[in-house]
Amino acid sequence: MRNTLATKLLFELSQPGRRGARLPVCDVPVRPVDALLPAAAVADEPPPLPELAEPDVVRHFSNLSTLNMSVDTHFYPLGSCTMKYNPKRNERMASLPGMVALHPYQPEETLQGMLQLLYELQQMLGEISGLPGVSLQPAAGAHGELTALMVAAAHFKELGEIRTKVLTPDSAHGTNPASASMAGFQTVTVKSTSAGLVDMADLRAKLDDDVAVFMITNPNTLGIFDDQVAEIADLVHKQGGLIYLDGANMNAIMGITRPGDFGADMMHFNPHKTFSGPHGGGGPGAGPICVSAKLEPYLPTPVVGMCEDRYTLEWDRPKSIGRVRSFFGNVGVLVRAYCYILTHGPDGLRRVSENAVLNANYLLSRVKHILPVPQGERCMHEFVASASRLKKEKSVTAMHLAKRLLDYGYHAPTVYFPLTVPEAMMIEPTETESKETLDAFAETLFRITDEPAELLHDAPHSTTISRPDEVRAARNPVLKWTSA
Ligand SMILES: *Cc1c(COP(=O)(O)O)cnc(C)c1O
Repeated sequence: MRNTLATKLLFELSQPGRRGARLPVCDVPVRPVDALLPAAAVADEPPPLPELAEPDVVRHFSNLSTLNMSVDTHFYPLGSCTMKYNPKRNERMASLPGMVALHPYQPEETLQGMLQLLYELQQMLGEISGLPGVSLQPAAGAHGELTALMVAAAHFKELGEIRTKVLTPDSAHGTNPASASMAGFQTVTVKSTSAGLVDMADLRAKLDDDVAVFMITNPNTLGIFDDQVAEIADLVHKQGGLIYLDGANMNAIMGITRPGDFGADMMHFNPHKTFSGPHGGGGPGAGPICVSAKLEPYLPTPVVGMCEDRYTLEWDRPKSIGRVRSFFGNVGVLVRAYCYILTHGPDGLRRVSENAVLNANYLLSRVKHILPVPQGERCMHEFVASASRLKKEKSVTAMHLAKRLLDYGYHAPTVYFPLTVPEAMMIEPTETESKETLDAFAETLFRITDEPAELLHDAPHSTTISRPDEVRAARNPVLKWTSA
């Protein structure tokens, strides 16, 4: 049954004169707005706001809030995004008055608790990554990529080297080439082998003195750990280049291996993925970066430092690339990450990764007979299955499966990414799901693939909106409501 609640806009529900609250007659002298504001600041007519009673508004938003899928309500195997359960305790910690009521312009001596927390988080991220220089400033993973590439650019500038290129594998997340381009580099794509690893011959052919950075995601977006990474790092370092590790998949390797140990010079974390920060719906996230000691001087300011038992914001760093964000970064997300890391401890973080990998392999082994996984029998924390065979046999595509899953109360996996796998379905169960949930999901996939193709072609059948034109919304956004 299609959910018909909350399908009208508040503007459409509006009735002239209806109010949520009525004020008593004013008992002080009234002065017209024109007498208080310059003429240019006064609108010709009042804004066309909807007129509604309180229950209309409460019902509208309460109903709207039930139309979304969320980790708290549904299994959410959205590959690459690590939609793990966000422990409620971290939310409580982050909303303690001592956290939320701080003002970033308070004198440092009144911010010691927060600065200590941020300082310790820097230390923890440095330890987990094996890269000691940490900046908590970037506001998202992609922003961390950009910041680190600016750090790299500052490093080469100081060396007097002109390097114009950034290499990215063809399986890379779209943010990698985008960040490279924003940082002023030209992106060169390196091919992957049929096994989903970096094609070493292609890398050798493209690696020259113009290459500043090789950006690698490891485990990569196919859910495979590229064990050539140390060799790749050697090759790139011999040419004087740097290795950037896109750390979006750290959930698979925490406490097991460290990017700094397998050759990375720089990386970002996505605390909203790896450390259970809530995400989706537009953020906020955070994208702390970790760099090797030689790149540390270029990190953005301020860095949180400690000097004689006092925590301070360090501004005086002459080689720094400067500010990349206001204040101290997205502190709310960082507090949650701190709580998460502290709660688990080193052994707990390792178990998180082991269980993420176990869950993904379990699900892979359950579904591969209907959704083959071209890149292998085993995976790390996620795998990319292909619906190619279903497409050939019964005209059912990855998109049809994804849409039909919504009818069964599952958020769809990531589809059509990475681009190197046809009819890709990128499935990441995360470590917070039980065997029962994974079994129920696998059985739902079996059931859907047995359904008549026609039923799938116009799914979902139970949602308020069935098949929005996904391209038009991006190409031709309608951002302004008009009464016409
Ligand atoms: C999520 C992701 C990013 C971008 O991170 P944001 O925090 O969304 O900006 C980059 N690379 C990979 C592989 C990702 O999964």
